[in-house]
Amino acid sequence: MKFEEAGTMVLPAGHGKALCLRAGWSVRVVNPHGTQALDFWAYNAADPSEYLSMDNVRSFNSVAYVEKDTALVTTERRPIVCMTEDTSAGQHDTLLCACNPAIYRELGVKGFHRSCATNMHEALGEIGMKMAFTPAPLNLFMSVDVRPDGSLDRILPRSKPGAAVTFRAEFDAVLVFSNCPQDVTTINGPDKTPRDCVLEILPPADAA
Ligand SMILES: [Zn+2]
Repeated sequence: MKFEEAGTMVLPAGHGKALCLRAGWSVRVVNPHGTQALDFWAYNAADPSEYLSMDNVRSFNSVAYVEKDTALVTTERRPIVCMTEDTSAGQHDTLLCACNPAIYRELGVKGFHRSCATNMHEALGEIGMKMAFTPAPLNLFMSVDVRPDGSLDRILPRSKPGAAVTFRAEFDAVLVFSNCPQDVTTINGPDKTPRDCVLEILPPADAA
């Protein structure tokens, strides 16, 4: 496995990227427009059957969404990444699945449409990894409230341009980001336009 060097890359609108991070290294995710949702997954680089688990995050922390102090635990209930910075509006969603080909069919899309689920598998494939299923993602910059009656309210994104979150790897890990290609609903903002984001790879000394 080739671990990342320090640097900055643009994550093109609608596409995904897998990063192999050494323990102690960080990635800063910058949202230049503010309203772009990114789906996020993390796997133990030594044993990808251990991964960031939304059901364990909710159980471990007794929360429905993630903020800076939330423990981001795996299927083995140990932190895989630490969110060391969050300048967004917070409340990153843990409840909704990654968008996937079936959702776009439901929405009336004919033929191929990029999705966060297929982006995750495509990005893992680019580094020679394969997963048999799609774990539930952490939906960064995405706001979903639980109403008193238990129904979900997909709120318009609230983060400002330049909002950023930083994750530090707690052990060697593969981090996957999908710049959500959703352009049918307003999850990426009222103008339904997916946008580029920026990933900054930071060695331990430079991290927040
Ligand atoms: Zn998506």
